[in-house]
Amino acid sequence: MRHLLPAIALLFASSLSAAPPHVHGEARLEIALEGETLLIHFDSPLDNLLGFEHFPRTAGERQAVAALKAQLEAPEKLFDLTPEARCQALPPEIASPLFAGRREAAHVDLDADYRWRCTRPDELRAVRTQLFAEFPRLKRIRLDFAGPRGQQSDMLTPARTGFRW
Ligand SMILES: [Zn+2]
Repeated sequence: MRHLLPAIALLFASSLSAAPPHVHGEARLEIALEGETLLIHFDSPLDNLLGFEHFPRTAGERQAVAALKAQLEAPEKLFDLTPEARCQALPPEIASPLFAGRREAAHVDLDADYRWRCTRPDELRAVRTQLFAEFPRLKRIRLDFAGPRGQQSDMLTPARTGFRW
């Protein structure tokens, strides 16, 4: 796991975030609500999202990598937030050795940091994700949440895509 945003790294560094195992079918979400800011860190083996993890070798694979990056840069299609909280997405930061053009031996991860600014953060009570619908190879997401009233953990599945606090 490589947090791109120092703020969320600090929130989770102490208790939860030993580097997660790279298990195909599994991913991880860290959600933190701090004041008016909602942060979501998404960490997944690339295999869950692309069906391969090697450096793209064909035009089709290069296209798939580019399409994935574009898909991940659209948080409104990946996460539903309590509308009453009036959260506005800020530009996400998406990173993977494949996007950077680095050839890695095997088993490559993706790290994405999403941020919202919410006008009424007290109304924010739930996050629902479309990740399972967008990426059918994904079967389980370990979720850690840190909010004004402490931390919680949960497990999301295709049958259970929402988390409330
Ligand atoms: Zn792998």
